[in-house]
Amino acid sequence: MNGHFSAVGDQPANGSYEHGCQVIDEEKEFNPNLNDYLQTTRVAEAGFNYHLISVFGSQSTGKSTLLNHLFGTTFSVMSETERRQTTKGIWLSKNKRETSSGTKMADNILVMDVEGTDGRERGEDQDFERKSALFALATSEVLLINIWEHQVGLYQGANMGLLKTVFEVNMQLFLKDKNSTPRSLLFFVIRDHLGVTPLSALQNTLIQDLTKIWSSISKPQGLEQSRIEDYFDFGFAALPHKILQGEKFESEVANLGARFSTGHRNGAELEGGILLPEYHRRIPADGLSVYAEGIWDQIVNNKDLDLPTQQELLAQFRCDEISREVLLAFDTVLIPLEEKQAEASKLGKPIVLPDLGAAASEAREKCFKAFEVQASRYHKGVYSRKKQELESKIDGRLKTLYLGQIAAAHKAGVAAFSEAVSNKVKAGQKAGGGYEFAEIVSNEKKKTTEIFKTEVDSLTIEGVEWTNFVSQSQLFEAELDEVSGKLRKDEIRRLATRVERWVKSRLGDAVGLEFNKLGSGRGGSGAPEEGQKPATEKDLWDRIWNVFTEVVREAEGRFADRAKSFDASDAEVEVGLWRLRRKSWTALREKIEEEVMEGNILLKLRENFEDKFRYDEAGVPRIWRPTDDIEGIYTKARESTLTLIPLLSKFKLLSSQKAPELVEFIGAQPSGVEAGDEEDLTPIGGVDEEEGKSLEEEMTMLSENKRQDLVVRFKKTADGVYVEAKRSAIGGMTQ
Ligand code: GDP
Ligand code: MG
Repeated sequence: MNGHFSAVGDQPANGSYEHGCQVIDEEKEFNPNLNDYLQTTRVAEAGFNYHLISVFGSQSTGKSTLLNHLFGTTFSVMSETERRQTTKGIWLSKNKRETSSGTKMADNILVMDVEGTDGRERGEDQDFERKSALFALATSEVLLINIWEHQVGLYQGANMGLLKTVFEVNMQLFLKDKNSTPRSLLFFVIRDHLGVTPLSALQNTLIQDLTKIWSSISKPQGLEQSRIEDYFDFGFAALPHKILQGEKFESEVANLGARFSTGHRNGAELEGGILLPEYHRRIPADGLSVYAEGIWDQIVNNKDLDLPTQQELLAQFRCDEISREVLLAFDTVLIPLEEKQAEASKLGKPIVLPDLGAAASEAREKCFKAFEVQASRYHKGVYSRKKQELESKIDGRLKTLYLGQIAAAHKAGVAAFSEAVSNKVKAGQKAGGGYEFAEIVSNEKKKTTEIFKTEVDSLTIEGVEWTNFVSQSQLFEAELDEVSGKLRKDEIRRLATRVERWVKSRLGDAVGLEFNKLGSGRGGSGAPEEGQKPATEKDLWDRIWNVFTEVVREAEGRFADRAKSFDASDAEVEVGLWRLRRKSWTALREKIEEEVMEGNILLKLRENFEDKFRYDEAGVPRIWRPTDDIEGIYTKARESTLTLIPLLSKFKLLSSQKAPELVEFIGAQPSGVEAGDEEDLTPIGGVDEEEGKSLEEEMTMLSENKRQDLVVRFKKTADGVYVEAKRSAIGGMTQ
């Protein structure tokens, strides 16, 4: 035997419980193995479906023997030869019989064999008797009182002392709170019944004695008139001498055993066995050992035993324990999910856990259910408080998990939406631009919103307020709209780029054409078409401005139509058009600059001059003769061409003799212009006043220097042509 366990007698720590379980040892220590015993015998899982019975009586009156016969237990009994006290402290054992005399016994009957008391003069014994009676009454439904037949009527006997103790203790325990007073059954087993005096007579004698005892005990104020029947029911049985009438003893014990089945009251009648529901102390079996230990602790330390407080303490302890147990099962489901989510978010790549809602809400539901089943048997107030604690613990964790999930779904959804729209647009562009941006956006938005909604719905638990993720859903939609806005902006930019390219190409052709006309000295090659005013060099800018405004108006129409088709706002369209006009002007200016570039313009001037010099009024090439006024024609043609240089240097309309109304054409900057909208725009003189460049400068196509330079170079070229003509005239003559 391990010394450590000597305090609990010969009780094994995790043993076979051969003789049951010693609840209280001879040192008055409570045995912590009681719960293990209840688990082992599977009583612990029975809820309220168990019964606790204690036996009281003097030493060596055959109590243990009786229990062993009734319930198939193996409590130690005094050997016939040694005759010394065997039962020490309080032992507990589960009924090992299922039926008795053909009747089904109640489930899970637990019997407590209490050490008997004899030498009532010994103060110590009295003390233990009182303590064990308190303990038994606080826990047991039935108190078996074991007495010899010949003790009946001996009012002064040891048993009467015991009963007095029981009544007093009962007062102490239950009478304070009259409403919840549980009844107890005092069941007298009269041993060595000779049969001479019938049981009914013995019964009457006992009841008389009990009433006498009851009247002798001092009662608390207000309860002086209370009767014994208010608190106790009585039961009686008589057994013959075990050794002298062995067989009859056995059969009577079996009959007695049959009475240990559940019963109920039907009016004044009793039906079934002696175990009535009202005797039950309502301590759930899985809390019995903790409760018993608490009770015993109070008793041993002579504290006032307050059962409601004990029940509350028990409820707190057990509810906490049950809470921990059910959380373990919850953890096995939740911790892997929590870890996965934490890991992913640590890496900055939040993930949407598959089937999270189903798994987590199932774990939650199971957890609550398991808690409810076990814990609801305990003190209602404590239970509902602990239930709330558990719920807030669980829901706190779920909330974190769910919000993480929604955040991940949000992020994934926005990314998927943006990517899908971009891809569809790209594919559409590849396929020749035949796509509807607004349609793509609304389709993708619908798809993405549905996926998000499915996720949110899977997390929503009916009737649970915090799982109503309305604001998160709104936030998601708002962000999709924001992203749509950005994508639309990109789309507007792409559209703008396409339209600008178109403008550039159109302007390139048209302006190039106008400049090419300069090459012909008569303002155009060949005769003007029927009905048209002959083009002159002087209205070059009018023609360019006209073609420019036409091209831009057309481009504006294209841009606006298309932009509106994908739900661009009026402000966005307005900004786009404003940008388009500016960019078009810049493109025009660049094209003109290209045309007036030194090499290009010099060539044109030379052609213009040659045309005037080499052809006569009718467009017929001149054959120079020495008599011709070559110098006169030369001077006239040269001066005529030279007038082009100042004309070309300034964009000035012939009609108004002024620069075109560029400021009006471009218009004021619209209020919808946002940061970044202007970044890629070239400043325009006169339009962007703060740029320090005037409209005058904007309209200057050739600087003064370049002009001078061009004049000099053109003259040299013209001179060359003149010399050549002169030579050919002389040569023609000599030929
Ligand atoms: P306990 O101390 O009350 O538990 O008594 P035990 O069960 O240990 O029995 C004490 C002695 O009484 C033993 O020697 C038994 O054989 C004897 N005994 C048991 N049952 C009876 C009975 O019905 N009548 C008599 N006279 N003796 C019995
Ligand atoms: Mg005994």
